[in-house]
Amino acid sequence: MMDAFAANLEDLGPARLARMVEISRVLNSTTNLDDLLRFIITEAAALTGSESASILLLDPATRQLRFKATSGSHAPKLLDFPVPIENSIAGAILTSNQPLIIDDVTQDARWNPKVSQAIQFKTRSILGVPMHDGERTVGVLESVNKQQGTFSFQDSETLSALADLAGVAVEKARLITQLTQANRKLNELDELKSGFIAIASHELRTPLSVILGYVSFLRESIDPELANQMDAVMDAAVQLRSIMQNMFNLQFVDTGRLKLDLEIFDFSILAQEVTARYIATATMERTLTVRTPNEPLPVAADRNMIEVVLGNLLDNAIKFTSRQGIVAVIIERHGHELWCSVRDNGVGIPLDKLDRIFDRFYQVEHFMRRQAGGLGLGLSLAKELLTLHNGRIWVESVVGKGSKFDFALPLVMAS
Ligand code: ADP
Repeated sequence: MMDAFAANLEDLGPARLARMVEISRVLNSTTNLDDLLRFIITEAAALTGSESASILLLDPATRQLRFKATSGSHAPKLLDFPVPIENSIAGAILTSNQPLIIDDVTQDARWNPKVSQAIQFKTRSILGVPMHDGERTVGVLESVNKQQGTFSFQDSETLSALADLAGVAVEKARLITQLTQANRKLNELDELKSGFIAIASHELRTPLSVILGYVSFLRESIDPELANQMDAVMDAAVQLRSIMQNMFNLQFVDTGRLKLDLEIFDFSILAQEVTARYIATATMERTLTVRTPNEPLPVAADRNMIEVVLGNLLDNAIKFTSRQGIVAVIIERHGHELWCSVRDNGVGIPLDKLDRIFDRFYQVEHFMRRQAGGLGLGLSLAKELLTLHNGRIWVESVVGKGSKFDFALPLVMAS
């Protein structure tokens, strides 16, 4: 393949060779398929002194050739026009993998006059060459109606050199187009998911507040023997509220509409308050401890958002630890930062999954086999909220032994 290409180049005159080098530069830097095809046919017609030029690419699904670009006023009518491989000039070039010169198409049995009639363009002569991507033949490049005289051997060599450069560039551009389309689809799917989450969280808020309101009211007025059952309903409703809070916050992070309500407070006190709430819940049979340093740890942060972060880490630590498990919150000062560590001796996370757990909707276990609830949003939201506070989060974990989630937040330093 490369030898044939080098031989083609040797046959070109110095002026054409210089033009080829320039063409190669443009082909390599153009990734838009339509621009690329248009450029190739303009050059093909100019280099061979022809009235028009066309590119036909092989459609791998139908195994037909299709016009993908044509110069001249008839171009739009020809776009995507199918040409069978059997009994057509372009098909013969593709299957023989050889250039073909036809001085008078009307004398050639493979000539299909219907195309000319349909577009009202009179085709007299054709020079066609195969286009390659590596060893694969991917299409045909044709120059139509030599303006002076007939197509020469040199025209054929020039067009072959152009077709070889073009074939690689076209396949590259096709792949880039496919990748861009796939990427756009994925983004659309993500937007749909986030849109659904926004609507669902909005719609669920009102009925949930009604449930929470009535349960707390009933809890106070019922027979103490039924209080346990009521506590279970309350716990479930509180858990639901925390899931919805994540769904609700997500849309604001997404649209950049999350406004942080910054205030200066002691992080240790907030951590103790949040942890105490978990210890107080009826289902909290695990050992939950919190250790804070003796000095205050002032942070300038949005209190509610930091509660969400710590709450999500505690929810997970509790969810993924057995009822006899141990969960510890340890807070330390590290220079100009506070480090908060939430540790558990639960199921742990496999090493190869660790870098994905902060992705949206990611859950280590398949959602159909999961015991624990959740939407796979807690950690991604925690990470995004910490980033908004110039903080960081990281994790260490061993399967069967437990997990340790740490986050760092900048401290407000006394000036
Ligand atoms: P979810 O709400 O589904 O728990 P998260 O984003 O909070 O979503 O967590 C993502 C996944 O990371 C979880 O589904 C779980 O597989 C894993 N994970 C998070 N925290 C822990 C933990 N403490 N122990 C074990 N696995 C965890």
